[in-house]
Amino acid sequence: MDFLQHLLPDSSALALKHWDLDTQTHRFIVTVESTQVIAHCPLCQAPTGRVHSRYQRTLRDLPLVQFSLTLLLEVCKFFCLNDTCQRRIFTERIPSVVAPWARRTTRYTDHLIAIGLELAGSAAARLSHRVGYAYSRNTFLRLLSSLPLPEVITPRILGVDDFAFRKGHHYGTILVDLETHHPIALLPDRTAETLAAWLEEHPGIEILSRDRSKTYKRGMTQGAPDAIQVADRFHLLHNLEETLEKALKSHSKILKQIEQEQLQSEGATVSEVSTSQNSTPQTAQQQKTAQKRAERLENYEQVHSLRKQGYKVKDIAYHLGMGERTVYTYLSHETFPEWQPSSRKRRSILDPYKSYLIDQWNQGRQHLTD
Ligand SMILES: [Zn+2]
Repeated sequence: MDFLQHLLPDSSALALKHWDLDTQTHRFIVTVESTQVIAHCPLCQAPTGRVHSRYQRTLRDLPLVQFSLTLLLEVCKFFCLNDTCQRRIFTERIPSVVAPWARRTTRYTDHLIAIGLELAGSAAARLSHRVGYAYSRNTFLRLLSSLPLPEVITPRILGVDDFAFRKGHHYGTILVDLETHHPIALLPDRTAETLAAWLEEHPGIEILSRDRSKTYKRGMTQGAPDAIQVADRFHLLHNLEETLEKALKSHSKILKQIEQEQLQSEGATVSEVSTSQNSTPQTAQQQKTAQKRAERLENYEQVHSLRKQGYKVKDIAYHLGMGERTVYTYLSHETFPEWQPSSRKRRSILDPYKSYLIDQWNQGRQHLTD
């Protein structure tokens, strides 16, 4: 019994009376009574020891090994002895054990809230079924929504941006403390008025970071006229990108020319390598290219052959499973049109090292160990 007494939510406020272990249903039922002799009226705070009646509350508590734990808590109803108080009778409260009207002990509720905060609704519900609590997603969400919001400490630097409650449908505004990197508030819309109202309620912000939206600009100017407004990092980079693109576009001709020259000189170097490696077998890419060419050649010959037999372009295309456009292209060439390799080679992160690598290769250093 001593051991069990120590397991109670508050062993100084509760006394163990009886326990019952049901191995069939895996329930552990413990009957306890309050040890309080004097209670305080919740309305006038006057102390009283005059008992009106006793009653039993059934509370779910933290599970014990593989047993669910139920506390049958016997508490009193007291008379308030203060004649001026409106409350005549009140029920005894034991705040260290359970909240008024709650059906779970405070420590069990705290335990569930901790799980809900880490996992949110669905995952918390799945885990709770796994470990034998069997609570629904909605129970966890209800517990979380009943928590008071943390107090907002007005930040020195505030980031303002929009975010989607539901993408493409409903947008709001997110406010982030840019020194702690914690979101501190979600506003229900993206209007200047809502932002201005929040800023007026939280004076003292020194720097406001935002996108280029005129609405936020207006809200900030109205709600925090003394704060400095800056563009956030993302939008600064975005601005830079746009400006660079505009500036470089006006020199596109010369840039293309430089790129062509560079590619041509690289092409020459590469060919030096491939000619010195004539004895090596064809690469998979070369084989694929050769195969494709053979297929195209066959198609080309069939197109001309069918046309000579009097077939319409539409029928040839259908018969050979190709587009009519390709049929027209083949027919417009008297000889097989070889595909010109693209002059615009794709840039690669290897480019700056190519000449060094080719140089090493040509010197015979063709293995990592060389
Ligand atoms: Zn009272």
